[in-house]
This record gives sequence, structure tokens and C-alpha cells, in this order.
Amino acid sequence: MVSILTISGRRGAPTVVSHPQVSDPITGQKPDEDCAVVGYVGSRNAFPFLLTGLKSLQHRGQESAGIATFDGSMIRIKKGMGLVAEVFRESDQSLKDSLPGNIGVAHTRYSTHGSKNLENAGPITISNSIGYIAISHNGEITNAVQLREEMKKRGSGFITSSDTEVMLMEISRNIIELGINAGLRNAVSRLRGAYACALMINGTLYALRDPMGIRPLMLGQVGDSYVIASESCVMDILGGSVIRDVKPGELIEITPSGYRTVFIASTPNTAHCMFEYVYFARPDSVIDGSEVFSARIQMGRRLAKEYPVDADIVIPVPDSGRAQALGYSQQSGIPYGEGLIKNRYSERTFIMPTQEQRANAVRLKLNPIKSAISGKRIVLVEDSIVRGNTINYTVKILRAQGAKEVHVRVASPPIIAPCYFGVDMKTRDQFLARGKTLDQIANEIGADSVGYISIEGLIESIGLGKQGLCLGCLTGSYPVPIPGEKYSFQSELENYQNP
Ligand code: SF4
Repeated sequence: MVSILTISGRRGAPTVVSHPQVSDPITGQKPDEDCAVVGYVGSRNAFPFLLTGLKSLQHRGQESAGIATFDGSMIRIKKGMGLVAEVFRESDQSLKDSLPGNIGVAHTRYSTHGSKNLENAGPITISNSIGYIAISHNGEITNAVQLREEMKKRGSGFITSSDTEVMLMEISRNIIELGINAGLRNAVSRLRGAYACALMINGTLYALRDPMGIRPLMLGQVGDSYVIASESCVMDILGGSVIRDVKPGELIEITPSGYRTVFIASTPNTAHCMFEYVYFARPDSVIDGSEVFSARIQMGRRLAKEYPVDADIVIPVPDSGRAQALGYSQQSGIPYGEGLIKNRYSERTFIMPTQEQRANAVRLKLNPIKSAISGKRIVLVEDSIVRGNTINYTVKILRAQGAKEVHVRVASPPIIAPCYFGVDMKTRDQFLARGKTLDQIANEIGADSVGYISIEGLIESIGLGKQGLCLGCLTGSYPVPIPGEKYSFQSELENYQNP
């Protein structure tokens, strides 16, 4: 008899924190990442490591958080809607006792597939004849609908609308039939899209990454224990070290006594998401051998070479444009300055229905330093522009404070196509840059000029080569077949024309 205990509340009082749907003040100007994953196996209680790991990766998903541990006899899981610190309150001493065990997986989520509710929050668990399985998944399974229908016809039922449950069911079905290692290999051969996973099958931890390596996944060591995480900063913060990136297509089996590669489902090219380097990942992380902070400095430098301008000061859109603005300043010789102060507590704001409310929300989020702006010719550096609402208001704020000129420089190429691999950019007509000239974009956002880094400039800044990156949302050509979309890899980049 197997059982999974879901802890949905403190003794006597529910602790599942529920929030209304939240977003950036202007309906999510920035794209949202879908998830962070963490896994631990070792000689100590897994819970504190998993909790610290999740807190370190809060930027990758603010909608829900969850931790599942296995104590040798059963899985226990607690998850809730909201930030990690809201779901797992430090003051709740019972948490550690209620999540015992020296192995576990953890998850934070921003949904890009499936609805925003607790059922879809990770980790997702199942029990079958093999035992217990829990999965934390970052990415998006592009053939989830098709697999779900196939499994439904065979009699499977689904509890959630999440693609992660489809993945879990596929894994479960295969390992019952073929055993764990062969079953996982067969499941991987049927899954398409992006997945970086921390997988717990009974007392063994597995790290699994899709064959293109679209989303990041690291293996690290903390003392005599092993940790897997979406970003390397987790190992630093836990006082450990990175062993290496999980290779694209690799399944690593990890126990307290060591780790080994079970298989590598290789492909000729990798497709690491360029947006990890542009915006998503923490600057102090190193992903697939490229440090995010250094890549962002290089993007700023390259932008200054491609789009120079006479100006008095370079200021970032805080916080995500900071390293790129520094790079622009270093290359151009124009002094770097802070001209906008970000209210870091204003992030979680309801969607604003009216223009006035949206403007107020940006004012709450970004306030100018008047002396840095008044009478100045400003280079305003932003890491990326998706829909363009925030940059529009930001330019207005600068002009209202007496900026003489505002030149917007963007450290990613124009985003013109959807993402199918776990980033919340789904609708073509939402993209500011699609089908417009630079002058038209400048006019629309009220800037004196606009410049975007080139695709070649971005590739060189990241340093992984064009065969190593996914550029789908920049080119409209995807590294994985997507119905109705162009399937071609970056080798055809020379022929790329902005659609
Ligand atoms: S389409 Fe864009 S955001 Fe999505 S994985 Fe590719 S590079 Fe990243």
C-alpha cells in the first residue's frame, strides 16, 4: 500500500496561501519564466536545502511554490500559491518535521501551460507499482496535448491541466513497463520540447534535461550531499560548488554515495534559451559555461558599438538593464548613472485595467532622480522589450523630469515571434517590434531614437555560438518542430529575414 501525504496546512489552520492572479503592473511587460527546480539527496534533512534553493530562485516563478520529500516509506508534499516565503514561513517550526527525509525535490512556478491553480503547482507526484515518483519541471512539453489524448484513449485520467502531469504519466507508464532506466529512455524519446527536471523515484534523485538543453540545469555538491538546481547561484548560496551542467539529453542518477550518467539522448545541436542570458537568469549564475553577468556586459558593449549616440549619461532601466548599461558606458565612455529608483516592493501588483492606473503603477515602481535627468541627453538601456508598455511610460517619466533627449538602447534583438518552450510570450500581435522600423518604434514609445543589438552581436556576447542557442522568438524559426511554425536551426541564420 502506498500513500502520498499532501500537507495543505499547519495544524489547526490552513497555510496554503492563496493569491489572486498577479503580474507586472502593466499586464506583464516582461516575459515570465515558467519555473525553477531544485533537488537534494544526501546525509542530512533535505528540507532546509530545498527551501534555500527555492528562495535563491524566486525570480524564476512567483505564482506557487512546493517541496516534496521522501522519508523511506512515503512522500510528503507541501505546496501553495504565492512566494516561497509565504508558502513556507520560517516561523512555522512544524514544517521541518512535516517534511522529513534526506531526499526531496522542490519547485516554483509561473504557468505558461495549464491554469494558475494549486493542482498545477509543482512538484507533481504519483504512486505506482514501482513506488513513488515526484517531478519538478522547468520548460514546456510541446506535444503534451497529443500525448494526453493518446493516454486518455488508453484509459489514463488526469488531475491537472499541466504539461508536467502528462510528462509524469508518460514516465510512469514507461517505467512500469520497462523498468526505471529503460523506461525513462523510452519516455524521453516520446517527449518533445523543453524540460529540465528534478525527478525523485523512491530514494533516488534524477536530473533530466531535454536533448536540446533549452532550459538550464546544474549538478552540484554541498559537503557530502548532492544538489541539482536550475541555476548555479544555488550552489554558491548553499556554500557548495557546481560539479557541472547536466548535459543536453542526459539522465543522471544521484544517490548519497555518488552519481552516474544513465544515458545521453544527444542531438547535433543544442538550443540553450538566449533569454536566460538576456533577462531570466540571475547575473551571478553561470549557465552552460557562460557567466550571465559577463554576457550582459558584453551585450551592452556591443550595443554601444552598433548604436552609438552623443549623450551625457547612460542609465539602466532597473534592475534588469544594469549590467548592459554598464557595458554601454564602458564602451562609449559616456558616464553611467542611476536615474531611476525601483521600488522593489511594488512587484506584485494587480493587473491594471485603465491607462491611468497603469501609469500610476509605473510611477509607484519607478521614480526618477531629478538631478540625474533634468537637462540631460540620456541613453536609457533596457535588457529587452516585449510589449513595450513599461518603456513607453519610463520615457514619459524621464521627459517629465526635463530630459533633453532620450535614446533607448535594447540589449536583445527585436522579439517578433512566440515562445513554445516555457516563456510567457504566446501571441504574435503583442510584440512591439513586429513589422515596425526603428523610427516607428521610437515614435511609438516617445524616444528620440531606438537601437537593438543585432542577433550576431547577441550570439557573440553570450559566447556559445549560433549552433548552441535557441533564437526562436527572434527569428520565428524553431529548433523543435512546432505545428504551423518554421523548423530550422541557426545554420540558416545567414538567410534570416525579419518577417
Ligand atoms: S523561443 Fe525565445 S524565449 Fe523561448 S526558448 Fe527560444 S530563445 Fe528562449
